[in-house]
Amino acid sequence: MWRLAALALQCPPHRNPPAAVTELIPLIDAIDAVLPQTQCTKCGYQGCRPYAEAIAAGDAINKCPPGGQAGIAKLAQLLDRPAIPLDTSHGEEPTELKVAFIREAECIGCTKCIQACPVDAILGAAKLMHTVISDICTGCDLCVAPCPVDCIDMVPAADQQPSATAVQQKADLSRERFNRRNTRLQQQADARAARKQARIEFHEQTENASSEARNAAVLAALAAVREKAAQQSVDEQRVKLEKTLAAAEERFARAEAKVREAEQRQPEQLSVLLARREDMRFKVEETRKKLAALDTPAPAASTDAARSAVERMLAARSRKTDRQRLDEALATLDNKLAALQQQLASADGEEAIFLQEDIERLQRKREQLLAE
Ligand code: SF4
Ligand code: SF4
Ligand code: SF4
Repeated sequence: MWRLAALALQCPPHRNPPAAVTELIPLIDAIDAVLPQTQCTKCGYQGCRPYAEAIAAGDAINKCPPGGQAGIAKLAQLLDRPAIPLDTSHGEEPTELKVAFIREAECIGCTKCIQACPVDAILGAAKLMHTVISDICTGCDLCVAPCPVDCIDMVPAADQQPSATAVQQKADLSRERFNRRNTRLQQQADARAARKQARIEFHEQTENASSEARNAAVLAALAAVREKAAQQSVDEQRVKLEKTLAAAEERFARAEAKVREAEQRQPEQLSVLLARREDMRFKVEETRKKLAALDTPAPAASTDAARSAVERMLAARSRKTDRQRLDEALATLDNKLAALQQQLASADGEEAIFLQEDIERLQRKREQLLAE
């Protein structure tokens, strides 16, 4: 009995109780029907129904001041228990019926009384004057304490001697309004909890999604930049090396032809021309090696270092203006030209011819740069 009643206590009035509790409901209903439905909580429970459930579970029947001694007598008869005196630690039995009255001129419209009223007997809205519907007010006085400006008085009800029928009708009305209010508050609490849970889940999902998406985007961008820089670097190097190789092969072919010619006509110049041809051969072979190395993947360990070096180089290059790059290229060419012209001044024979070719090539390149 105690255990089943305890289960019943945990079950809000608008929810379906567990099957084992249903057999207690007729008893609880019968007790609740005897209680005055003032919903004042003076018994120590959150209204008359919870106290009825506690009584069904074995609690004392003398804790309801509004019901008074007459109420205790009815409960004692219903439950076949002795009619004990009212436990005045819960309050004295009222000597007159009271209702709440709001001094409307002083009301600041804070709505605290509305939130406290167990039977929705107060009308009003935020920042507007409030008033009590005295026919519905049970006189529980739960609205008095929360009022911050102390503008609620408990005043004698207009009808101090209501008929038994009127008392019963008001009790039924109070029970119905109390249950309806509790159902509404529970639904609001459920809705708030559901919204909060949905917000938490949405937040967690978007947090995870955005964090993953952010990481993926950063990694993809980094990989794309590295890939592009590496590819640009390889392409640029290949174009340069192919040009260098073509020039070196052409010069090697010319050096080779001059060697053949000198073998027959100018043997005294053969040693210089042979050295020149070997230089050109070396240049061709070195350039071919560099080109072959471009197509060989770098070892994994050095790939990142190479990429960072390329990125640094590209970053440094991007910081220079086109004009700066042109000036630097012209200065380099001018230095090389000056050095070649210095060598030409003391050169003769084939060496002078080759130096003159180099000078003309650099001068063409210089004009080309200026034209661009
Ligand atoms: S009238 Fe007040 S004291 Fe009596 S049972 Fe209802 S809530 Fe409890
Ligand atoms: S108006 Fe005040 S006294 Fe009347 S039922 Fe509501 S809370 Fe109780
Ligand atoms: S608690 Fe007092 S001030 Fe606030 S709305 Fe109610 S009567 Fe007005």
